[in-house]
Amino acid sequence: MCLEPVRTHRYRLHPPGSPMFERCAGLAWCSGCRIYEDDVVHVPCGETLPDALAPLPADARERLLRKETALVDHLDRLGAASPRRRRSQALTASRTW
Ligand SMILES: [Zn+2]
Repeated sequence: MCLEPVRTHRYRLHPPGSPMFERCAGLAWCSGCRIYEDDVVHVPCGETLPDALAPLPADARERLLRKETALVDHLDRLGAASPRRRRSQALTASRTW
C-alpha cells in the first residue's frame, strides 16, 4: 500500500422520485496503486451529490458511465473526488484500471 490517500466518489444511478433513488454507486480508488473498488452505497434523498460529469457532452458522459475503469480514470484525472477517506479505510479490492 502506498501513501496516496484513498479517494472516493459517489453518484446517483436512479432519477429523483424513483424508489431506488437512495441506492447510489460508490467508487474508491488509489491513484498511486491504480486499484479501485465499487460498491452500492446509501445516500439519503436530501443529500445532493456533486455531478462530476455534468460539464461533459451526453455521449462522453454515457461512455464513462458504461465503463467503470474509464470513469475511475476520468475522475482521477479531474482530481475532483470527495470526500477523501481516512487512511485506515484501506481498499479491500484489487481491481486495476
Ligand atoms: Zn496506493
